[in-house]
Amino acid sequence: MPHQRRFLSADGAVEHPLLNAEGYLDSIDRFRRAFPDLVIRSGVELGQPHLFEEAAGDLIDLSALDLVLGSLHTLDMGGGLRAEPVTLYAEHPAAEVMWAYLEEVPRMVEGSDSFAVFTHIDYAARTWPTWDLGPFDPRAFEEGFRRAMRSIAERGRALEMNTGRLWSWVPQWWAEEGGRAVTFGSDAHTPDAVARNFPEAVAMLEHYGFRAGANTWDYWVR
Ligand SMILES: [Zn+2]
Repeated sequence: MPHQRRFLSADGAVEHPLLNAEGYLDSIDRFRRAFPDLVIRSGVELGQPHLFEEAAGDLIDLSALDLVLGSLHTLDMGGGLRAEPVTLYAEHPAAEVMWAYLEEVPRMVEGSDSFAVFTHIDYAARTWPTWDLGPFDPRAFEEGFRRAMRSIAERGRALEMNTGRLWSWVPQWWAEEGGRAVTFGSDAHTPDAVARNFPEAVAMLEHYGFRAGANTWDYWVR
């Protein structure tokens, strides 16, 4: 196996395996040649691109990929250590975590041009402490979501319709805040979950005026 070396993250606490970028691009190239009728698109989900764009660029040439998604997985709510919302909910009032998440979205968009699509904007809602506070109510954070979406739209980025969980307010507020383009992402971590809930996502997107592009991999736009 290539790339057995490992490196420490910025906080020194976690080890990450190095990305085998060469192997990844090489396999795509081989399969494209082996199956010329199949469209194979390359891409990456880049977490916290406003902080790690340069480090990521050392691992892989982002401009050589067909699609770069940007995601926000961690926050620094004091102490200088970034943590996932699920961890922060145990340590801070839930509403503070959610607001901190939404307030970092515009900073991420302003801070990096390396990604074209903002992915899973509902990330902090997924681990909302329902056992303590009941179901997540997006309306309590509506202005924060709308501000975050506006910042994404104003910088000409697309928003991912993440179909791991469908929320009708995502395409609604995105359209109302000037969002023009969406992508589909099933957040499948297993092959059987690829394209899950796509028919339902299509119905929602069509309702808010989004339409398919010429190719299946094009953005849906309005
Ligand atoms: Zn993610």
